[in-house]
Amino acid sequence: MKIIHSILKTSLILFFYIAITSCSNTNNNKNTENMNIENNMATSVFPLGQRGSSNWFTGEVYVQGLVSPDEMEGLYSVGQVTFEPDGKTYWHTHPIGQVLLVTEGKGWYQERGKPAQPLIPGSVVTIPKDVEHWHGAAKDSKMVHIAISNIKDNSAVTWLAPVTDEEYNNL
Ligand code: MN
Repeated sequence: MKIIHSILKTSLILFFYIAITSCSNTNNNKNTENMNIENNMATSVFPLGQRGSSNWFTGEVYVQGLVSPDEMEGLYSVGQVTFEPDGKTYWHTHPIGQVLLVTEGKGWYQERGKPAQPLIPGSVVTIPKDVEHWHGAAKDSKMVHIAISNIKDNSAVTWLAPVTDEEYNNL
């Protein structure tokens, strides 16, 4: 029953999403569509979620849990993270690793000591275990990703220092 409800809910959300995007297509105004994406008005499939803690994130960041560890034998969790422009994680590591699937906007992924990689919708990032890194939005765009985080000893992440303005401004 829960599954059927979930499928119905997802179908409804998808229906409205398609309905909205179809409307803008029938207007046949590509510029307006692009402008809406630039202005962060694209509609996410999943809810925005709760404001992320300022102990782990800089700027405006929202986290929506999608699959809890309890549902997956404590092995991993899945969640959506929405970074408003300028929003980002602190530097951090994952004990097993993490996969990021970028669904909206523009952003960055950077490993310590390496150049930052630009993120766009469709970007897939595989983060090895114990590699220090951060991810977040571009200055002029939000960025949304799904994060699949593996868990070891009840922990999926070790938080480190904030990304400094100097590090972010020099991308
Ligand atoms: Mn990470």
